[in-house]
Parts: sequence; structure tokens; C-alpha cells
Amino acid sequence: MKILSVNAGSSSLKFQLYEMPEEQVLISGVFERIGIDNSFYTIKLNGEKIKKEADLPDHKKAFEILVNELIDNKVIASCDEVKAIGHRTVQGGEKYDHTVVIDEDVINDMIKYSPLAPLHNPAAITGIKAAQEVFKGALQTAVFDTAFHATMDEVNYMYPVPYEWYTKYGVRKYGMHGTSHRFVSMRINQILGREDTKVITCHIGNGASISAVVNGKCIDTSMGLTPNAGVMMGSRCGDIDCSIVPYIMEQTGMTTKEIDNELNKKSGLLGISGVSSDSRDIEDGIKTGNEKCILAQDMYVRRIINYIAMYYVEMGGADAIVFTAGVGENSISTRKQIVDGLAALGIKLDDEANNCRGKENLISSEDSSVKCYVIPTDEELMIARDTYELTK
Ligand code: AMP
Repeated sequence: MKILSVNAGSSSLKFQLYEMPEEQVLISGVFERIGIDNSFYTIKLNGEKIKKEADLPDHKKAFEILVNELIDNKVIASCDEVKAIGHRTVQGGEKYDHTVVIDEDVINDMIKYSPLAPLHNPAAITGIKAAQEVFKGALQTAVFDTAFHATMDEVNYMYPVPYEWYTKYGVRKYGMHGTSHRFVSMRINQILGREDTKVITCHIGNGASISAVVNGKCIDTSMGLTPNAGVMMGSRCGDIDCSIVPYIMEQTGMTTKEIDNELNKKSGLLGISGVSSDSRDIEDGIKTGNEKCILAQDMYVRRIINYIAMYYVEMGGADAIVFTAGVGENSISTRKQIVDGLAALGIKLDDEANNCRGKENLISSEDSSVKCYVIPTDEELMIARDTYELTK
């Protein structure tokens, strides 16, 4: 059965088509600059990458081009062969703790939760509506980023603010990257060969979050009401003293939008280094002795170590620590700094094993108190699996 996994942004559309249950990727790609000038798309098929320019006024047009490409490349004979489409959606509020088939109520709930994910939920809805128009017979599902974190206890998801902020405005920790945390925590349990595990999953990419997962269920996570909580990220500040916000607004006269932009897009590695939000550029800066890059990296790593240590204590130990996403899968030096910083817990790195990028690997030494793994994440596959299950 052919299942399409979709991640719609406001001006982009990523897709992967799977043959399920074999989990074989038939074709993947991305449409970019939708609704703006110079739009184009790239597709990956049979190990070959093709880039084409195309007029992409909206997401519907992108799906129509996708259907033509699928037919032209003989991936499908007709549109009806795509039996289901799974959509990556970010904010499912308190209601959605699992993947669901999309109906009118789901869309209305996504609209309701949009103030909590103002960039992501409206974009996902646009993608869903366009997919419904083009793939008329396909089952459509919503895979929520927040769903995996729905198992958190209120001690962990409540903020110490007036209680009515929660009841009136939904102020609580929801967490993000749930599909990725779920994927790697399922995989680590497979590797460990049991379900009764205590695992710390570190999704460290441009955005970053750390989760504490006990017996496959999330008990705590570092992102909060929004994705700008927890550890320091590429361009987001993560946890800071919240009174910095009114203080800087008063000092500078910035509006709420402006300060939100500074904290989301101009902070983190970029804000401290003044160089880049990309770990690779920070690593290059460190090699040339750039002191701000060194400081940015040390602050970045410190915060990840702190979260891991916190969750280690919260869970009463850990069986494994998993590194995933762009930095977690690829940055040998960042992983080394993190694991070395956990020495007080008896956690030790195997430097040779750590010398790997983008592949599943045990990177801790034999005498490490906790096993450390690199596990490449695969949110698209998780979306396809969930969607396939709902077709049954
Ligand atoms: P993601 O958000 O998961 O796609 O991760 C993207 C981030 O991964 C980039 O911004 C880089 O900071 C980081 N990254 C990717 N490849 C490498 C690498 N080889 N070394 C260090 N960082 C990397």
C-alpha cells in the first residue's frame, strides 16, 4: 500500500512516498518557495536527485505537480494508488495523544490551537486542505508533535504561574518533536531488547529538545508551551529568566513581536557567536580560536548536560542516552563534550565509536554506567507507520 508522508510549512512542502508495510521509500522531495517568486522543487528517485523550477502559487499546485511526477516516473499509475496521507502537525493541545484520521472536528481543533503554534498549525491546515482536494479518495491523518508528550504528569507540565493561566489560556508544557522522540525511544527499546527502560532522548538539531522516557512513555520534556523553551538552540534562547523580556522591552521600546523575533531568530548559538546558528559554522569558528564561538558552544553543551542530569535524577537512573537530529547524529565534537560532561554519573565515551556520522551506533565505552547511542531519527517513517495502522 502506498502512503504519503507530508510536512507542510507556510512556503514549503516536504514529502516521502512509502510502500507499506515494507517501509520502502519510493520517492521523496521538497517543494520550496510556494507562494513566492523563484519557486522550485527537488525530487529524489532511485538515488538520483532532480531539481526543477516551477510556478507554485499554492500548496494545491505543488500536490498536482507531485501527482504528475509520480505518474511520469511510473511510481503510480493513477492518483488513487496513494491510499493514505499522513500530515505532520505540531500542536494538538491536550486533546490529541495519538495520531487521528482528519475530519472537520480535527481541523477545527487545529484552528483552535493555532495561537499556540502560529507558524505551524495554519501551514499544516493549508497542506491538509490542498491534499484533500488533490487526493480525493485518500485517508488523511494528523500526526501531532505534541502527542507523545501527553503522558506527562501535571507536576511536570504545569508552570508555577497563576492557575487560571492554565484553565483560561492553556498555559502548560506541551513539548515538541514528539514524533522524533517516539521514533528513537521505540528503536532504543528494540536495541535493548526490552520495554521496561529509562531513556533520555536528545533531539538536537536546529531546534532541540530533550525527553525523559520511562517504559516507552514520555514523563518529561524540555520544550514547553512553545518551542522556545529548554536547551539553547541554533537561534532560540531556550530557558531564560522570563523577566528579561519586560526589562528589555522597557529599555528598548521593542514590541512583543519584535522581542519574540529576537528570542527565536537572533538568540542561541547565533546570538552569542554573532557568526551563525549552524553548529558546523560554530565548529569552524572554534578551530580558528573565535572566542564567541567557544563561549556559544560551551553554553550550548552546558544546558544539554544539565537537562540530561536532571532527567537522570528524575528517572532514578537511565539505561540509555540517545543522540539524534542534525547535531546529535553528526557532530562528533558536540557529543564528546556532552558525554565527557556527564563523567560524574559514570558515563563514558568510546572515542573511536563516537567517530561516526548519521548512522546508528553505540558510542559509550564498555564500562560506561549508561549506554549512549546515535540513532538517526525518521519522523516521516513514523508518520507513515501511524497512518498505515489507521488504514487497517
Ligand atoms: P536538523 O534541524 O535536525 O535538520 O539539524 C540541522 C542542524 O544540524 C544544522 O543547523 C547543523 O547545526 C547541524 N549539523 C548538520 N550536519 C552537521 C555536522 N556534520 N556537524 C555538525 N553539525 C551538523
